[in-house]
Amino acid sequence: MQRDVIDGVPVLWSEAPGPLEAALVFGQGARDESFRTIGVTHLVEHLAMSTLPRLHHEHNASVSLNLTDFSVSGTDEQVVDFLAAVCKALAALPVDRIEREAGVLAAEASGVVDPVTAELLSARYGTVGAGLASWDGPGPDRIPVEAVHETVARSFHADNAVLLLTGPPPPTLRLPLPTGERPERGGAQPVMLTGPRWLAANVPGPGLALTADLEDAALTAAHAVLQERLRQVLRHQEGLSYDVDGARVHTGGGRGEFTVVVDARAGQQRRVAEILWRETLRLADQGVTAAELSEEIAGFREAWLDPRATPAELGQAGACLLSDLPYEDAAARLAALAEVTPDSARRAFATALSTALLVVPEDVEVELAQLDGAPLAEGSCAHPRGGELPAGGKHFKPPMFARLRFPEARTARLVVTDDGLWSRDGRGDVHHLPFADVVGVEVNGPGRVLFGRGNCLIPVVPEMFAGIGEAVAAIDAGVPKTLRYETSAFAERDDDACAPPPPAQTSRR
Ligand SMILES: [Zn+2]
Repeated sequence: MQRDVIDGVPVLWSEAPGPLEAALVFGQGARDESFRTIGVTHLVEHLAMSTLPRLHHEHNASVSLNLTDFSVSGTDEQVVDFLAAVCKALAALPVDRIEREAGVLAAEASGVVDPVTAELLSARYGTVGAGLASWDGPGPDRIPVEAVHETVARSFHADNAVLLLTGPPPPTLRLPLPTGERPERGGAQPVMLTGPRWLAANVPGPGLALTADLEDAALTAAHAVLQERLRQVLRHQEGLSYDVDGARVHTGGGRGEFTVVVDARAGQQRRVAEILWRETLRLADQGVTAAELSEEIAGFREAWLDPRATPAELGQAGACLLSDLPYEDAAARLAALAEVTPDSARRAFATALSTALLVVPEDVEVELAQLDGAPLAEGSCAHPRGGELPAGGKHFKPPMFARLRFPEARTARLVVTDDGLWSRDGRGDVHHLPFADVVGVEVNGPGRVLFGRGNCLIPVVPEMFAGIGEAVAAIDAGVPKTLRYETSAFAERDDDACAPPPPAQTSRR
């Protein structure tokens, strides 16, 4: 891999077959947003791309959890022109197009990760950083223009960028970006929920996440063996699944989630979730065989040393550079894997098991156990489950009609104290949302919907609680005005709130 610097931007390049491919990558992704500004990075990307003329060669732009990239392939001249145009656009974004592009984003409605991984990240990290993955937030039409300007100034400059090329830089290549300071993106993101636990969410199939150092070679090998075993059982033996997909998701400081996402034939969700969990426990308990280990290492060697992997390898090196993490090339990673033994793989996996989150679709009830036979606990934003409402404060009940119509409404309560809200949901679990933990307040006519750092969502709306005037006044006084926004014109309504009956309000993807 060769290194260069053009206009202050580090350039990484390796020769690869085919036309020249380039990616201008910025160290700014969805996890750098806040709940209030969800989607701002995608909006910046769209605004920049909206300035380009119609192009007939391959080009694209995308926002992931960690990065934003503008990519192109074609002749040297096409690559040079595209990159210059992107830099020029970022330096002078057409912010007058915000409304139109917000509509485009609403239509596109794409997530930065698949919906199963998104729910696992949100359960793990709450409505902060990587945990934002499953949330829509206020909506693309509620992103403040100041947030667009701030994001560009903070992240879209030469000192937070890297250019990746599959050949030597063309001599005319320029990257006219402003200079800046690499933003502080923090180290490992603190987790909100560890394991082992299961949770139900709006997902198409079951999934598993383990928190660890992403460069842990022993866990990388064990994770690969788990996927292969699941493929054998779920697909080839039982015919229950089509796809078993594993990933390593970086959430900061070199740490993140080892995930496994499986799909399930209709009606087989529960069975697939049970097998996913059973195989997870079996691997932690009994480990892997030497044959399985060498099979997976051979697979990594094949994939990483393939010349077609050059763009992906450049991408990995670029991501490390932008995250201030050391980059290890394929040879170094293979050397680390060669040191892994069946025993070290088992130990790494057994240690990671203590962080396991298993997500299942909402209508699936599972009864699972841990290795020692104790029941696997359900994860929830109510900590602990059950709990008591405070004696003081002002109490609100659902309106009479709701109590008659919905059994859940008979137990539902809202309590407003000096420091925040408490609610008891239809299952009897008590949620506490201090004003200091609020990340967003949706203003919905006379009502408010509060979103908390720990995934708590408490609707304070007339359909759910009678006489809420005083509660709304307390919320408006207790939460900074900058966190308040009107319901998005694009909002779709349906969500898991911490207080049934099901509210009209929602914001979860
Ligand atoms: Zn809650």
